[in-house]
Amino acid sequence: MNSTINTSPSCADPWDADSISVAQALTQIDAYVSTLQESERLAVRDCLGRISSEDVISAINVPGHANSAMDGFAVSGESLPAQGIMELTEIGTVYAGKIFDRKCGRNECVRIMTGAVIPDGTDTVIMQEQAELLDNQTIRIGSDHRAGENVRQAGEDIKQGEIVLQAGSKINPADLGILASVGIGSLKVIRKPVVAFFSTGDELVSIDQRLEKGQIHDSNRYTLYGMLSQLEVNILDMGVIRDEREAIRDALLEASQRADLIITTGGVSVGEADYIKSVLDEIGQTEFWKIAIKPGRPLTLGSIGKSVYMGLPGNPVAVMVTFALFVTHAIRKLAGAPAHETPLLKMRSLQDLRKKPGRHEYLRGIASRDENNEWQVEKTGMQGSGILTSMSRANCFIVLPAENDGVKKGDLVNIQLFEHL
Ligand code: AMP
Ligand code: MG
Repeated sequence: MNSTINTSPSCADPWDADSISVAQALTQIDAYVSTLQESERLAVRDCLGRISSEDVISAINVPGHANSAMDGFAVSGESLPAQGIMELTEIGTVYAGKIFDRKCGRNECVRIMTGAVIPDGTDTVIMQEQAELLDNQTIRIGSDHRAGENVRQAGEDIKQGEIVLQAGSKINPADLGILASVGIGSLKVIRKPVVAFFSTGDELVSIDQRLEKGQIHDSNRYTLYGMLSQLEVNILDMGVIRDEREAIRDALLEASQRADLIITTGGVSVGEADYIKSVLDEIGQTEFWKIAIKPGRPLTLGSIGKSVYMGLPGNPVAVMVTFALFVTHAIRKLAGAPAHETPLLKMRSLQDLRKKPGRHEYLRGIASRDENNEWQVEKTGMQGSGILTSMSRANCFIVLPAENDGVKKGDLVNIQLFEHL
């Protein structure tokens, strides 16, 4: 008698010849999703986190004039002593925002405050701590000074005519300051993508309903809401849709009227009640992928009308992992954001980690410091793709590449710190 049984490929398999790598999936998402073309003009502060759709050119030098970097004494660099000591006569004081209206002679100095414009006849500032005050009128300085020291030159930060912000850059707090410093009050940015999402599943009930046997509360719409809220998108929560072909079709069509990106969770497994595929074949285009990743192997990318569609798995952890990797990637492309890769760090594993080669694994980890102040990482306990507490307790993913065949305690492993999770 034959001692083996014939089984179908499943998500428990370490490797599947049809699956694509994480990198391939990202490249294909890039090729599939186009950046939104519409932009809007906003006041500078409202541009934080948004993507500029124009180059910004400075009409001015920043700083506009040479000014002092220190509180001290403005002098002529040519009169600095090569050796020995020099006495200078103080002829006045200049404060930030004020102009000193006399010319300073070679044996004279002007007391100057940080940010004040360098007086005529001077180009160097001696720090007040490095000058000896003889009386109210006279100071002494030594020979260890350099012409030009402690002076910020006109235009040393930004030159008139320079591009200070390029189209396609993401506006960070420093950029807000730069725009303010060149006197720009508003900016054209790419409009925010609208992201619609709904959950599918007959077992799902909302949080205000009592659970009957076999039912679960819909948690995916809450994690999705949380993750989307941290991005620059407008959110459209379309609730739970039953596993009924017409209901799913109607919801997808409605979403495609209203959103740039449609996300669904569940309904992509082998179960008979999973109608997503057949509906999408009718009203849109799709590519069904098996990605060599754990958790989160099945993922659908497609389009309905002008909207991009992403079908995520149903399991709560798989939703979060695929969102972090693939949905954020698609949203960045839609929003016109620059390419971004979260850096990986290396830390020692506090334990053995079992793994078979084949799939890129994202374990939920806790990075912490040991008694010698070195960083170390351990997994958050049970790693099933339904164990949402493993995400809540984690502060990073332990990322094991496809070819990895297990980790020994003390080995260095790659860590990806959570961003927006
Ligand atoms: P599916 O892909 O629809 O077969 O779902 C896979 C697993 O994820 C099942 O155990 C579902 O009950 C679970 N699941 C699907 N959607 C949700 C959701 N919105 N919230 C929590 N669990 C879900
Ligand atoms: Mg389902």
